[in-house]
Amino acid sequence: MTALTVAVDGSAGSGKSSVSRGVAAELGMRYLDTGAMYRAATLWMLRAGIDVEDAAAVAGRAGDPVIESTTDPAAPAIALDGQDVSTEIRTPDVTGAVSAVSAVPQVRTRMVQMQREAVAVSIASGEGIIVEGRDIGTVVLPEADLKVFLVADPQVRAQRRAAEDAARGHGVEVAATAQDLARRDAADSQRKASPLAKADDAVVVDATYDDLATVIGRVKALVVDAGR
Ligand code: C5P
Repeated sequence: MTALTVAVDGSAGSGKSSVSRGVAAELGMRYLDTGAMYRAATLWMLRAGIDVEDAAAVAGRAGDPVIESTTDPAAPAIALDGQDVSTEIRTPDVTGAVSAVSAVPQVRTRMVQMQREAVAVSIASGEGIIVEGRDIGTVVLPEADLKVFLVADPQVRAQRRAAEDAARGHGVEVAATAQDLARRDAADSQRKASPLAKADDAVVVDATYDDLATVIGRVKALVVDAGR
């Protein structure tokens, strides 16, 4: 198969990460979690004592965080200023602040540049890559070989995300998780700078009723098809 670029977008908790990782691992492709990059930038702002609601303050420091992502689907990791922060970026503090930071255009411009560089490195080495986020099909990779827009019922998304958070030791009620997902979806969809949106040419995959392995199989079939 040629080195394909695949964009996977969708709302919080839709299963983008698990599905993208699974497909990439099964097809021998690279995998980039762009949400992790926005989370790392947010962690940096919080550590620096920046008020994340102050867009001008965030914009002024947008160039400062040094973020490095690995693209191995078997071991995705992210470093901030040379230190692994794969665990720290999943805390409720970061989750609560990330939509504000990612709405700042200067942050997005920098992240998109880094994301396109990661894709270029992957393609240059002859490996395809699955990039997941909110604006991959619309902004980051408008020429992607395949665009998938993953959707799932809000209640199902909340149940899955609450279970994941509990496994990480950040257990909260499903109802609170549902509220958090709804708040982030609204913020991510309504912001001015590259909001969460389905690209016109994206294939919608509904992950509400199927288990992870089934959804991975469906997306994998789409990728294989796109490579023909
Ligand atoms: O995917 P995840 O839920 O970890 O993403 C965290 C946040 O990062 C999202 O709620 C959104 O605000 C932001 N994000 C974004 N654009 C992307 C990926 C994530 O704005 N491509």
